Formats: sequence, structure tokens, C-alpha cells
Amino acid sequence: MASCCNSEPRSDTSSAEKPDCCPRCGERGKSVARQTVAGMARLETPAAALAHSEFSLCPSNSCEAVYFADGGIVLEQKDIRVPVYWKDPGIDVPLCYCFSHTRRSIAEQVAATGASSAFAAVSAAVRAGECACDVKNPSGTCCLGDVRQYERALVARREIAAREND
Ligand SMILES: [Zn+2]
Repeated sequence: MASCCNSEPRSDTSSAEKPDCCPRCGERGKSVARQTVAGMARLETPAAALAHSEFSLCPSNSCEAVYFADGGIVLEQKDIRVPVYWKDPGIDVPLCYCFSHTRRSIAEQVAATGASSAFAAVSAAVRAGECACDVKNPSGTCCLGDVRQYERALVARREIAAREND
């Protein structure tokens, strides 16, 4: 268990970071907009849990807590309407929530063609102003970095496998 606020900062949390830490795992939280939390919370979530203006997300891959706020407010994966990609490694979990690119859809395209068009398609949609990451993605941020990283890892793995089969 990481102790509060002295774990290594993650490379993808360079943007605004709240200093407070996840009450479940101790990892440093990352600021997330209230509208993201409110959009992601299941309808059954008590209003009082969403009444805070300052929320953080827990970036840990293994911790059940997704969002937290002062006063012991914690929303777990079970309280969230979508599978949270950085906590749920499932193949059908979206990496792009705006346009429903899942790990499976990207992997199937890479397996069939050797490449994935997801990053290019999402990039074009972002340029056209058609994404809504602040309310569709549980991170509240753009998926492009995660989509590209996943695509590259799959393509690299496929190329290594192809070389080994030579
Ligand atoms: Zn946590």
C-alpha cells in the first residue's frame, strides 16, 4: 500500500492534482470535475454524495474506489454506470467512451489488419469537436493517450509474434 502522497507521481497526472489521497488505498488523487462524477454515478447514488464541489479520482489499478471527496465520500466501481478502464482490465471495457472503442474492437482490428484506426478516428472526431470526454469518460479527460498506447502495444506484440514465426 502506498503511503499518502509520497508515491511516485504517475506520468499521466501532470495536470491539476489535488494533494489529498484516496481514503481506501492512500494513493494520491487526481482532480476530477464534479460534472464528470455526477454523470458517471448511478441514479441510485444519494444526492448528498454528489453535493461536494471538489472531487478526486483514485488512479490505482487495484483499488475499488473510483472517486472520493471530503467527509468520507467514496464512490466505488459498483456505483459507476460504466466499467472504469484503469481499474477493469476486461476485454470489453471501452478505452474511448465517446465512440465505443473497446479493447476488443481495437484488438480485433489489429489482429485482422495489423493496425488500428481508432486513434485516427478519435483524433478526427476531437478536431471536429464531437467528443464529450468530460461526461462520457470516467477519467473526465481525453482518451487519445490511452488509445494510442494500447494500439502501439498490440501492434508491437503482433510484430514480435510475426518475427518469431519466421
Ligand atoms: Zn484508491
